[in-house]
Amino acid sequence: MNKSGKIYVVGIGPGKKADMTFKAYEAMEKSDIIVGYKTYTDLVKEYFPETEIKSSGMMKEVDRCTEVLKLAKSGKNVALISSGDAGVYGMAGIMYEVIDEKDDMEIEVIAGVTAANAAAAIVGAPIMHDYVTISLSNLLTDWELIKKRLELAAQGDFIISLYNPKSKGRTTQITEAQQIMLKYKSKDTPVAIVRNAGRENEEHEITTLEKMLDSEINMLTIILIGNSNTFVKKRKMVTPRGYEKKYEY
Ligand code: SAH
Repeated sequence: MNKSGKIYVVGIGPGKKADMTFKAYEAMEKSDIIVGYKTYTDLVKEYFPETEIKSSGMMKEVDRCTEVLKLAKSGKNVALISSGDAGVYGMAGIMYEVIDEKDDMEIEVIAGVTAANAAAAIVGAPIMHDYVTISLSNLLTDWELIKKRLELAAQGDFIISLYNPKSKGRTTQITEAQQIMLKYKSKDTPVAIVRNAGRENEEHEITTLEKMLDSEINMLTIILIGNSNTFVKKRKMVTPRGYEKKYEY
């Protein structure tokens, strides 16, 4: 029987090659085949013209992992790719759920720049202090639980990044999320809306909690909501670490 290949679960970063880690690039280079959702395989295929590419539709995550296992079992090294970081609403967890304790293939997860970090750098330094990441997608999580987390994160004065804020079929959640935030955070709290971070049509706005819904928000948008100390300076959004008196100038 063949020796099993290795599975790399690779976070390719927000989009462009410059935002990818060397390690992610090397893992794909070492792989016989790259597997992922089509949007992401399209982003990387030009760098690996010789490598076999297998892409699949959005809802087929478990099938994709089963396929990866099969390929690795047949002796191939496989890169399973996610955008951003594979461990943040990506493929890494699903891969570990699908693999059997008895399977002998090795899995290595390669970290990537997640959307929140890519967006934060674009708009300044908004997540300098404690922050919370919440996905508004209720496909796999009950909306009641998501609301509870929004409520507690807002009460805790965390900086909050919202993933999956809105899609064609999910339009009301973002309004409810804003209403929950307004119970605990000032209406003037700075909010950054970043679309297509690190991709062709990158756009961003810095607005306020009260006005955030005036901006275009879609599936490729990430929203960063400040804490009570966040301010805007030089058209950038900044959260101080809160240790002003301890800084040494
Ligand atoms: N694993 C990914 C997240 C997948 S969830 C990561 O670590 O970034 C998908 C959500 O991530 C999108 O709905 C959007 O909110 C956010 N996202 C992913 N890539 C983005 C990008 N380039 N620009 C803005 N938001 C992005």
